[in-house]
Amino acid sequence: MTLEVSIAPCLEDNYLILARDVDSGQVATIDTPDADAILAHAKTLGWTITHVLNTHWHPDHAGGNAKIKEVTGAEIIGPAEVRRIAPLDREVGGGEVVKLGATQLDVLDVGGHTLGHIAYYAAAAEKAFVGDAIFALGCGRIFEGTPKQMWEGLQRLAALPDATEVFCAHEYTASNARFALSLDDDPTLVARTVEIFRRREQNLATVPTTIGLEKATNPFLRAVKLAPKLGVADQDPVAAFAAVRSAKDTFKG
Ligand code: ZN
Ligand code: FE
Repeated sequence: MTLEVSIAPCLEDNYLILARDVDSGQVATIDTPDADAILAHAKTLGWTITHVLNTHWHPDHAGGNAKIKEVTGAEIIGPAEVRRIAPLDREVGGGEVVKLGATQLDVLDVGGHTLGHIAYYAAAAEKAFVGDAIFALGCGRIFEGTPKQMWEGLQRLAALPDATEVFCAHEYTASNARFALSLDDDPTLVARTVEIFRRREQNLATVPTTIGLEKATNPFLRAVKLAPKLGVADQDPVAAFAAVRSAKDTFKG
């Protein structure tokens, strides 16, 4: 079974993400940041959207649900919190399984950015769709959950195989890279940021990333190592993570 993915920028700094199970031809849009852009992109590819897979309730993730449903009749799957702003046909949570044709997607609980935030992991295709839980060199702001909840979700993602491609929902990588460099001079990170700045100057995407690359360079996954530079000697991973997260929240650069 093969899962093809096509991404394109939309809104200010979001990505629209379409995933197609090749054998069945079923197509999921991961979230619905901009219904018109998603429908137009699917049309260019000759793909017909059959599913919406929401990661969390924010308007730049579920705001296009109604329009996509109206135009395509797609089944909308996501966490219950989506109902706060948009239609939802089937509620799912961590530990459940979603099928796109023959492709199995495991639902992972990655709450913290919002309480019910989930990710979808296609083990056979080595791909994960993570919304705003983790970004290239970053992670989502903690709007609703606690640092502990967010950290546990990030650990669930970090436990996936290194080769897993990670499709995050925003292009925040250049600003994340500046923050990472303010704390860390690891050679792998430095080399990665050179490539990131080069790509962004040419307006090229830095998404997807991989779990292996994030484990090696993402300051939030490296929090225990980096927190002492913020004056937090505490080796408790949650405290270290919370320190790095709040440093990023106020970082100007
Ligand atoms: Zn969000
Ligand atoms: Fe978002």
